[in-house]
Amino acid sequence: MGHVEALRCRECGRRYAAVALHACDYCFGPLEVVYDYAAIAASVSWRRIAEGPPTMWRYADLLPADPAGAVDLGAGFTPLVRADRLAEALGLGELWLKDDTRNPTGSFKDRVVSVALTKARELGLKVAACASTGNLAHAVAAHAARAGMDSYVFIPSNLEQTKIVMTAVFGGRVIAVDGDYDDVNRLCAELASEHPDWAFVNVNVRPYYSEGSKTLAFEVAEQLGWQTPDHVVVPIASGSQLTKIAKGFRELATVGLLGADGPGGDGAVRISGAQATGCSPVAQAFATGADQVRPVKPSTIAKSLSIGNPADGIYALETVRSSGGAIESAADDEILEAIELLARTEGIFAETAGGVTIACLAKLARSGVVRSDERVVAYITGNGLKTVEALAGRAGPSATIRPRLEEFEELEELRGLEGLRGLEGAARRAVAGGHESEGAPR
Ligand SMILES: *Cc1c(COP(=O)(O)O)cnc(C)c1O
Ligand SMILES: [Zn+2]
Repeated sequence: MGHVEALRCRECGRRYAAVALHACDYCFGPLEVVYDYAAIAASVSWRRIAEGPPTMWRYADLLPADPAGAVDLGAGFTPLVRADRLAEALGLGELWLKDDTRNPTGSFKDRVVSVALTKARELGLKVAACASTGNLAHAVAAHAARAGMDSYVFIPSNLEQTKIVMTAVFGGRVIAVDGDYDDVNRLCAELASEHPDWAFVNVNVRPYYSEGSKTLAFEVAEQLGWQTPDHVVVPIASGSQLTKIAKGFRELATVGLLGADGPGGDGAVRISGAQATGCSPVAQAFATGADQVRPVKPSTIAKSLSIGNPADGIYALETVRSSGGAIESAADDEILEAIELLARTEGIFAETAGGVTIACLAKLARSGVVRSDERVVAYITGNGLKTVEALAGRAGPSATIRPRLEEFEELEELRGLEGLRGLEGAARRAVAGGHESEGAPR
């Protein structure tokens, strides 16, 4: 396809043809897509993008696959919403939320999978496969169905029932493996060398897959009138998304798509990372000033971020450090409180990864890393319907009554009109009796 020149090793710089290959033969470094930016700059324009489809494929000039053959369920071009009520709660000024809960299967993984399977078909690969903690499984199974490809999705066997249903419904093969994500991933690395004709989206076609995350930067810039934000907060699992968001902003500057008089016309954006404390290898490396990321055993409700040995952790760490950001982590109860805060202030129900991002944003705001004079974007990468179990026992009815007018009116007299707005926990608990956990921080 047009503007891709080659794959290049991130470590030693050796070049390879743009095929299904992810690691350097010489140094085992990860491979990355290289483009002919001069050719892209000559053809791309704000107008050309605006005339494209209302999906991530409007940025096809900066993606490594041919949009004519796109495996497309409509991923991307999700809303960027101004979040004044949340900003006020966090003591911030201009805060925006990139609402990637709205993707076809409910997470940002639809972006990366759409690119990976489009490229896989171009390369003649017939089977889609992945190791997943849930969201990737949903995206691969759905996009494979759309493309008419066979699929094999490998998941840890302890995954929640709803996540298994949301994968299996698309008709591919779902293989539950007794082990954690890192075990499943290791198995897939072995399978990938046994089956070079399969597209393991995050293994042998990973260089293309990861490019899909750049669209999270492209869209934010376009939605801000072709300007970059000052500071973005991004959740970290493998670290790929964070690294590629940085690459996306830089590329916009390289090909001349940033407004000349806007702030950050050079594509420089402060980037901060967010992890769950129960799986925070990159946050720990940041905190201790280490230049290695030491693997951990994950134990957190934020399963979509539970990668104990993150493939791009070191690059995420370098990206954050060189941008002047920081990496925070949030404990499980802080994650749940942040999910509730986001829902109650902005009407967005995020999965646990979104809770991680907002909880870490709150900490970064408190410590002054994220400042109230900055234009801030927080990436909300997955939909709360995926992890409803996480909130079990915390969200319930304000009261339970029999279907009689008097009972409701009695209730309202007790509560007072103010109570109707529903946030006065004490008043509500006095009435509701059995629901004392509702709204109470734990
Ligand atoms: C996978 C995932 C991430 C992180 O992606 P990486 O590129 O692996 O760091 C963030 N949020 C959600 C909801 C995810 O599913
Ligand atoms: Zn190399």
